Amino acid sequence: MRPEILFSLFRPITVLKGVGKRTADLIGKIAGENVVDLLWHLPDGIIDRRYAPKIAAAQAGAIATMTVRVGRHLKPHNRRQPYKVLCDDDTGAMSLVFFHAHADYLAKALPEGEVRVVSGKIEKFGDEIQMTHPDHIGTAAEIEMLRKVEPVYGLTAGLSLKVLGKAITAALADVPAFPEWLDPTLLKREGWPAWDNAVRAAHGPAELADLEPTTPARRRLAYDELLSNQLALALIRRSMRRLKGVPLAGDGKIRQKVVAGLPFTLTGAQQAAIREIDADLGSDTRMLRLLQGDVGSGKTVVALMAMLSAVEVGGQAVLMAPTEILARQHLATLTNLLAPAGIQPLILTGRERGKPRDAVLGKLADGAARIAVGTHALFQDDVAYADLRVAVIDEQHRFGVHQRLALAGKGRAVDVLVTTATPIPRTLMLTAYGDMDVSRLTEKPAGRPPVKTVLISGDRLDEVVAAIGRAVADVARVYWICPLIEESETTDMAAAEARHDHLRSVFGDRAGLVHGRMKGADKDAAMAAFKDGGIDILVATTVVEVGVDVPEATVMVVEHAERFGLAQLHQLRGRIGRGSGQSTCLLVHGRNLGDNARARLRTMRETDDGFVIAERDLELRGAGELLGTRQSGLPEFRLADLLEHRDLLPTARDDAELILSRDPDLTAERGRNLRILLYLFELDAAVRNLRSG
Ligand code: ADP
Ligand code: MG
Repeated sequence: MRPEILFSLFRPITVLKGVGKRTADLIGKIAGENVVDLLWHLPDGIIDRRYAPKIAAAQAGAIATMTVRVGRHLKPHNRRQPYKVLCDDDTGAMSLVFFHAHADYLAKALPEGEVRVVSGKIEKFGDEIQMTHPDHIGTAAEIEMLRKVEPVYGLTAGLSLKVLGKAITAALADVPAFPEWLDPTLLKREGWPAWDNAVRAAHGPAELADLEPTTPARRRLAYDELLSNQLALALIRRSMRRLKGVPLAGDGKIRQKVVAGLPFTLTGAQQAAIREIDADLGSDTRMLRLLQGDVGSGKTVVALMAMLSAVEVGGQAVLMAPTEILARQHLATLTNLLAPAGIQPLILTGRERGKPRDAVLGKLADGAARIAVGTHALFQDDVAYADLRVAVIDEQHRFGVHQRLALAGKGRAVDVLVTTATPIPRTLMLTAYGDMDVSRLTEKPAGRPPVKTVLISGDRLDEVVAAIGRAVADVARVYWICPLIEESETTDMAAAEARHDHLRSVFGDRAGLVHGRMKGADKDAAMAAFKDGGIDILVATTVVEVGVDVPEATVMVVEHAERFGLAQLHQLRGRIGRGSGQSTCLLVHGRNLGDNARARLRTMRETDDGFVIAERDLELRGAGELLGTRQSGLPEFRLADLLEHRDLLPTARDDAELILSRDPDLTAERGRNLRILLYLFELDAAVRNLRSG
């Protein structure tokens, strides 16, 4: 149960004055639905209203707060003309300009002959000084109330700064004063304010410097978030360790059949990883192991061996993928691999509904199903397992601590293997995994020549299309990736559809399309056609990013490659070069590349080593260009910046360990306060892992 002191923060933002349903929906897009989400939406700029010149001295382009005498109102003669209000002071004259004005409102707000203060941007047309739609109009007394420096927030279409600013001010008006959960020595050493003061300070910059991640307020908030993350991870680990694992040792009979059916021999790295996994399974602590290996390094078959151990002792195993497409693909792969052993895997995703879903649930509950693949639908509350022993979480970076918590609660003593292709720099691994055991597949399966990567300017798209034509004539299969445009999935889709139309005009039905907005069945059909050669060119948004396996695909075109992060480009490129033929990746970029974008693309051309790319990614991000954490495979933090606050990570990890070693169930005074912290960051499930949660 969430502590009472948090209730006010977890009310929907519509409880705030001036926030209706429509505004709430818009705020929901950028911040979230609860009051607390507004607090986490920190300003990224300021408007300085301290500049208060006389009219004659006002600088064009500046934000100014001007005290003026209101003169005549010039009403427009038609709807296209603006409404103007003439004003002056003892140095000159200016006009206030309003389009689609409400005359009644303006008559009241700006009565002729009175003195008013207006604040907004100064514009100059020749000698004429204007202010269009002032941000604020008031009497001298009212304007005193105006904050002299206003924070500026990230917005979305339809949401004005004024409306959002008011909502945030309302949210800040009654933030609770929490009992301190941080160590007093740490607070003192760092000079950090109490939580409520930190929140207010973060939202109340007086100077640009107050927005820096290095301010005590921002560092405190970041640390709170990192500490909650480390505590939650440590609690999962502890609760898993507390529930003794049941030693699991298969007889190897099913594995043998599957291995005998493989068209290749396992690499040394794969065999080593399997040995490490077997040691975990055989011990009486639960496995919590990360299997890290570059795209194409062959993680699937290693994971399958772990799953088969469960089956060999009569238990069940699941493989959870981050997307529907990947789950289907895993189903196809596993169905093939398992055929020699006579095992039929089942699938459970959000798409299975009604009777088919009930049938799957029945088989999972009575144990008839031994192996299931799916999405997080596998771990919904109403899914029960007869004897779940091994869970593999594929491409983990799409799952957060939350999902991990849900999973930990499922089986009695489920052994967990997490696979990731994201070569996370060691320094940052902590945030995603805490102190997990790690196996690495360092060696790629033999006989795979590296992918040739070419940078090409978007001006030469015709040449790209011609080259694709030659490749297709020569049996190649081609991915054509259209970029993700953050703001809107619809524009994404439109760009991909337009490119698809264009390529169809050249290649006819040989070109197919897949994007995130398509219905599941249509997506499958497009992927299947590409896999079996029904189409040669697959235009796609980044839905193909992770895990999709079509060994015949040897060419990839990435449009606007400069818009992708390094980690994401690496993931994408890993879709080709999976067979023995030479593969080529064409990174098509815009004409005016920034230095950072150029460096990223050059890195892609120079190396295909995921770890080198990850380190380079971090350096380049250090150079100031912020790539979304989503692209780098790290968990998304609201307040912590993994680069800027990197130094706080080890501290948070040690802090969490020390806290739990002294007070494992968070029942002492500080422990109880830390429970509030966990709830504050919505890690409720972590608290449920406590003995007296
Ligand atoms: P990832 O690590 O990206 O998940 P996959 O498990 O999908 O990689 O494997 C990529 C491809 O390599 C698959 O087609 C798989 O059958 C093949 N593969 C896996 N192990 C080997 C091996 N030892 N030798 C040759 N090919 C292999
Ligand atoms: Mg994979």
